[in-house]
Amino acid sequence: MTSKNPSSEHQPDPADVGEQLRASVDAAFPRIVEQLSGLVAIQGIAWEAFDAHELDRSAEAVAELIRSIGIEDVRILRVDNDGVPGGPAVVARRVAPDGKPTVLLYAHHDVQPPGDPDLWESEPFVATERNGRLYGRGAADDKAGIMAHIGAFGALTEVLGNSFGVGVTLFIEGEEEAGSPTFRSFLETYRDDLEADVIVVADSSNWKVGVPALTTSLRGLVDGTIEVQVLDHAVHSGMFGGPVLDAPTLLARLIATLHDDAGDVAIAGLTSGDHATVDYAEQDYRSDASVLDGVQLAGTGSIASRLWHKPALSIIGMDIPSVALSSNTLLPRARAKFSLRLAPGQEPAAAMDAVRAHVESHAPFGAKVSFTPGETGSPFRTDTTEPASRLALEALEEAWGVQAVEAGMGGSIPFIADLTELFPSAQILITGVEDPDSRAHSANESLHLDEFRKAVLAEAILLARINAGGLSRT
Ligand SMILES: [Zn+2]
Repeated sequence: MTSKNPSSEHQPDPADVGEQLRASVDAAFPRIVEQLSGLVAIQGIAWEAFDAHELDRSAEAVAELIRSIGIEDVRILRVDNDGVPGGPAVVARRVAPDGKPTVLLYAHHDVQPPGDPDLWESEPFVATERNGRLYGRGAADDKAGIMAHIGAFGALTEVLGNSFGVGVTLFIEGEEEAGSPTFRSFLETYRDDLEADVIVVADSSNWKVGVPALTTSLRGLVDGTIEVQVLDHAVHSGMFGGPVLDAPTLLARLIATLHDDAGDVAIAGLTSGDHATVDYAEQDYRSDASVLDGVQLAGTGSIASRLWHKPALSIIGMDIPSVALSSNTLLPRARAKFSLRLAPGQEPAAAMDAVRAHVESHAPFGAKVSFTPGETGSPFRTDTTEPASRLALEALEEAWGVQAVEAGMGGSIPFIADLTELFPSAQILITGVEDPDSRAHSANESLHLDEFRKAVLAEAILLARINAGGLSRT
C-alpha cells in the first residue's frame, strides 16, 4: 500500500488513511453486501397491519451485526405512545474518550410494504443482484444506510485500531416508514444516550450515479383551509344572479391573488432565497414532472432554487358541489385547502400568519373569509460553513473523485425538525445511499452497488477526519 511519510508518524497523512480505508472497504465489501442481503430477507414493516414479530427480528439482526463490529453496549429500546408500543430502535454506544467528540449515526431498519408483488421483477424480500444493482425492499431505503454505518465503523477500527478515539452512537430507528410516531418521545426519553456533536442521517439520495451529494436544505410546510361565504343560504341563480357573485367564483378570485403574474407566490412576509449551486435543466424538470407541452413554467429564478429555496403554494382540495350534483343556484359558501412549502429559514408560525393576513385582506367584493390553520413542519438548512459539513463534502469528494453537490430537497424529513430541536448544538449531515433510480417505496427498489461502496468509504473518511481533530479546525 502507500508508503509512510516518516515526518508524520504520529499524525498519519490523511491521504494515506484514505487509501487504507478504501482498501479496507473494498476487501470487506462482499461481506457488507451479504449482510445487507440478510437484512433485506427480514420483512420488518412498522405498519399496524403487518407482523410485529418480523420487526423485532429485524431489530435483533441489526443488533447482532453491530455487536460483530466490536460494539458491546447494544440495546433494543422502544417507548409507548398512549399505551401503543413504538417500533423497536437499536441504540449502540461506544463512549467517547474524555474531550473527544461523539458522532450519532442514524438510519432506520423498518421498510415500506412491498406493494403489488406483480410489479416486482424479482422477489421483494430476496436481495437479487442485476446489472450492478441490488434489488429488494429496503436494499436502499434504508438498510443500506445501516450497512454504511457498520461498514464505515468496521473499516475505521481495522485501519486506525486504538487510535480511533471518536465516540460513536448508532441509532437505528424501527418505525420511520410509519411516520416515526414515537420519535419525539424516544429522543426525550433517551436524550442523554443520544447526545452528539455531529449527527449523520444516512437516509437520502446522491445527485446521480457518479456524483455524490450532501442534502443541505429541506423545505418546511404549512397547510390550512380558506372559506369564502357570501350569502346566508343558496338562492336561485335566475332570480338573483348578476348583482352578487357566487362563493366559488369569489374563492377562485381570492386564490388567484396568491400568485403574481409570473407565478411566484405573492404573499407578503414569506422569505425565499436563490442560491442553488447545481443546474436542474428545465427540460429535465419538465419531463420528470410530466409537464404537458405548451404549459409555461411558473416563477422566477433557477429551477433548483424554485424547488429548494422558494415557497411553493398549491391548492390541494376544494369543497364545492360536484359537477354531477350541480344546479342553477348561487352557492353561498366554498372552501379550499392550501399546502404551502416554505423556504429554508422560514418560521412556520410566521408563514401561517402571513397566509392568514393575506387572505383576510384580499377578500374579493367584501366576501366573508375565514381561515383555519392546519399542520406545520419546520424547514431545515445546514450551515455549510460549519466544520462538519466541510469535512463531509471533502470526504464525499475524496470517495467519488468528483466534487459533491450541495443539494436541497423540496419536501421534508419530519424527524429532522425533532433532532434540531432536541440537539440544537449538533451539526446535522444528511447523506445518501440512494441515487435517482433507487425507487425507494416503489416496486423494484434497488441500490447501485458501486455507489454504495463509495458511500461506505465516504463515511469512513468523514469519521477519520473527525478523529484527526477536523471539527475543531477553523
Ligand atoms: Zn428512509
